[in-house]
Amino acid sequence: MTTYVYDFHQGNKDLKDLLGGKGANLAEMTNMGLPVPAGFTITTAACREYLAHGKEPDALRDEVGEHLHTLEQAMGRRLGQTDDPLLVSVRSGAKFSMPGMMDTVLNIGLSDASVPGLARQSGSPRFAWDSYRRLLAMFGRTVLGVDGELFDDAVDAAKKARGAGNDLDLDEADLRGLAEMFKTIIRDRTGRDFPQGPREQLDLAIRAVFDSWNGERARLYRRQERIPADLGTAVNVVAMVFGNLGMDSGTGVAFTRDPGNGDQGVYGDYLQNAQGEDVVAGIRNTLPLTALASIDPPAYDRLLSIMATLEQHYRDLCDIEFTIERNKLWMLQTRIGKRTAGAAFRIAVQLVDEGMITMDEALTRVTGAQLAQLMFPRFAAGGRADRIAQGMNASPGAAVGQAVFDSGRAVELAAAGIPVILIRRETNPDDLDGMIAAQGVLTSRGGKTSHAAVVARGMGKTCVCGAEEIDVDAHRRQAVAPGGVVVHEGDVISIDGSSGAVYLGEVPVVPSPVVEYFEGNLVADGSDPLVDAVHRIMTHADGAARLAVRANADTTEDAERARRFGAVGIGLCRTEHMFLGERRKLVERLILADGDEEADAALAALLPLQRGDFVAIFTAMDGLPVTVRLLDPPLHEFLPDLTELSVRVGVATATGEPVADGDAALLVAVRRLHEQNPMLGLRGVRLGLLIPGLVALQVRAIAEAAAICRGRGGDPRLEIMVPLVGAVQELEVVREQAEQVLEEVAVETGVDVQALIGTMIEVPRAALTAGQIAGAAQFFSFGTNDLTQMSWGFSRDDVESSFFSRYLDLGIFGVSPFESLDRDGVGRLVQLAVDEGRAARPEIKLGVCGEHGGDPDSVHFFHRLGLDYVSCSPFRLPVARLEAGRAAVLDR
Ligand code: ADP
Ligand code: MG
Ligand code: MG
Repeated sequence: MTTYVYDFHQGNKDLKDLLGGKGANLAEMTNMGLPVPAGFTITTAACREYLAHGKEPDALRDEVGEHLHTLEQAMGRRLGQTDDPLLVSVRSGAKFSMPGMMDTVLNIGLSDASVPGLARQSGSPRFAWDSYRRLLAMFGRTVLGVDGELFDDAVDAAKKARGAGNDLDLDEADLRGLAEMFKTIIRDRTGRDFPQGPREQLDLAIRAVFDSWNGERARLYRRQERIPADLGTAVNVVAMVFGNLGMDSGTGVAFTRDPGNGDQGVYGDYLQNAQGEDVVAGIRNTLPLTALASIDPPAYDRLLSIMATLEQHYRDLCDIEFTIERNKLWMLQTRIGKRTAGAAFRIAVQLVDEGMITMDEALTRVTGAQLAQLMFPRFAAGGRADRIAQGMNASPGAAVGQAVFDSGRAVELAAAGIPVILIRRETNPDDLDGMIAAQGVLTSRGGKTSHAAVVARGMGKTCVCGAEEIDVDAHRRQAVAPGGVVVHEGDVISIDGSSGAVYLGEVPVVPSPVVEYFEGNLVADGSDPLVDAVHRIMTHADGAARLAVRANADTTEDAERARRFGAVGIGLCRTEHMFLGERRKLVERLILADGDEEADAALAALLPLQRGDFVAIFTAMDGLPVTVRLLDPPLHEFLPDLTELSVRVGVATATGEPVADGDAALLVAVRRLHEQNPMLGLRGVRLGLLIPGLVALQVRAIAEAAAICRGRGGDPRLEIMVPLVGAVQELEVVREQAEQVLEEVAVETGVDVQALIGTMIEVPRAALTAGQIAGAAQFFSFGTNDLTQMSWGFSRDDVESSFFSRYLDLGIFGVSPFESLDRDGVGRLVQLAVDEGRAARPEIKLGVCGEHGGDPDSVHFFHRLGLDYVSCSPFRLPVARLEAGRAAVLDR
């Protein structure tokens, strides 16, 4: 027979699946001998039964009855007993804490009949009525579904009538009046009376907790966080202790360290003569926890010693709720505390130094996402700008610019070199150009999956969204913030994408000390505890990692930064930029060439330029591998825009002017190369196979550059990568050409130039035929961006702004597949290619060069697949290094 109810003595902290987080930790504290009020937990299994069958399991009623009976015996009074009522709280608590679950109901068991008894027993009629009106409001709102504002408004009216500043000024008569009023509200709104039977109250509250599992907010949250929908929640029934019994009582929250910055020492808030949520509800100003030291020294000392015990026990920062009832301390909750990114790093190493955890564990206590947060520039403290509003921190960073209210204006000003912040009520695909042009984006509507948020994150652009206090009026080109502050077009504003704050005026931006450390401008010498912590943890991560981390870098500047940021090679050096700018003309000549001679001339002109580029990059990465990708993008990207050119030629023809030299021929070529679907067109290896001499040119430039570096005593390590291969035959042709050139250069220069030749796996067919392709490839590098696009059949540029936010809202995606690798789909292709590639060529080198190489979750996946390296943009390197280390430690 299943047991549906556990006494606190029967549980422990490892039973979160069954007892939920809150219940498991209450049991743990009980068994540690800490002063926890007696109580019991109804398991998630009972909830699952209820959800599956629409009613409580038969045995539940009796089991609750038995545990209630035990509780009553321990407390020496019965639930709701008229002359001395036992009261309880009913608290939801799932395995993961979740928004949208039912709020706690306190003081259950109290009724018209037992209020006088409670008044007599406590010696305080005011307290009894205060407890009753709280029960009525909480029960009315959360269990019976009455609009909570009705109760709040009534309290406000009562305070006003009495000229009272806060709830403490309300006397017994006021509170009694409120209780009567609340009962009327409940009757009016629900068509029934507030249930007076204590057990009925309890059962209704328990059922309401079960029901809240399927509340709309909870369901949405679970879909987004990928929390299974069928876990169910536990319900905790806890004997009440009272913080509202007078000034010798109170309630508070505490952290064992400062969760904001990681400083050692206690941190928290306390409120005298108060109950439950009053502390966080802001009904009165709280006192800092240290004030308790003088209000009630023995209780304070006891609290401190319990906090130390808890920290030692949980070996981490603890977050605590407590209540003091007439000088007696009670523990009501503890859990591992949430903390800021900076605090996470600092606390992890503090715990190591205090002997509580190992460095391996410290590594698991921080995340790449936290490190990424520490790497954004921030607003300097003490700036003089006014904070005018608060929104959601949708995409981190600190951005300053002139306010603009439409996309066109944003583009216009940005083109003139003026930084702008685009302010919109909400954005849509028409705002895309403006978002690209702006330093940052601010919206007054929409959450973290809104269009603005999704697109800004995709671009790595600072974004604050859902700043609802701001009234955006695009027609009048202004926004009105609370207090009537008006932001006109052209006014400078600053937005903080990490905190969601909006400022009028320019807030100075300072670089992140963590980036300064990676750049080598700051050393970990004890002067900045955060930098020290990051240094120690990164060093440990590098030692633990099995997956190497390379950088995607196309220029010497990027290559140099990559080295500073700890890259052990370049995993992707794109060669596109080597064909742009001034050199574009040469490419044009190559494409338009009329016969081999002209083409050869264009190639010959490009050769020394490319060679120079490679010499610079190989020099910067001396001794480390550099993977050079042969030209990838469609040809039309190197030619003038079709529409523009057509108009130019058309206008000239119509006005009878002579068409400019070459324009006519160019137009023919541009028309010929125009593609409906360039992403799936003539690009990558297809280009190399179509344009004679292109592969040879690039390989020659690479090989000659390597020979030059070798001649100077350097140690260049080349890997030549062929993009967009779908069939081994494509690769074979290119490889043959490449090997021939390598040989020629070796003969000409007398330097034996070695290079690995491999391919990107980015077309699904390549993954599916990886066994064959490995026959011609010495390495695979997974181009997960294209692999994602082609697996899903959508192009990132098009879909991210058009329907991704809808997909996220609907829960079809938990996260964009461009941010984090889609393991179920794209991941299977990668897995398949890894297995077949290795089977065909055991020594094959395997890496990833898509942006996923810098995404924490994806890094863990690649680690598990046993890849050799991931490659990501230089700024993501520290994140990837940290996660590679974490993946190795978590794997042990
Ligand atoms: P949440 O998960 O929202 O924090 P809790 O169940 O912890 O909800 O309860 C809300 C508030 O009520 C907290 O301040 C908690 O300490 C307080 N509380 C809960 N149970 C009791 C109890 N039995 N006696 C006194 N206060 C309680
Ligand atoms: Mg709580
Ligand atoms: Mg690609």
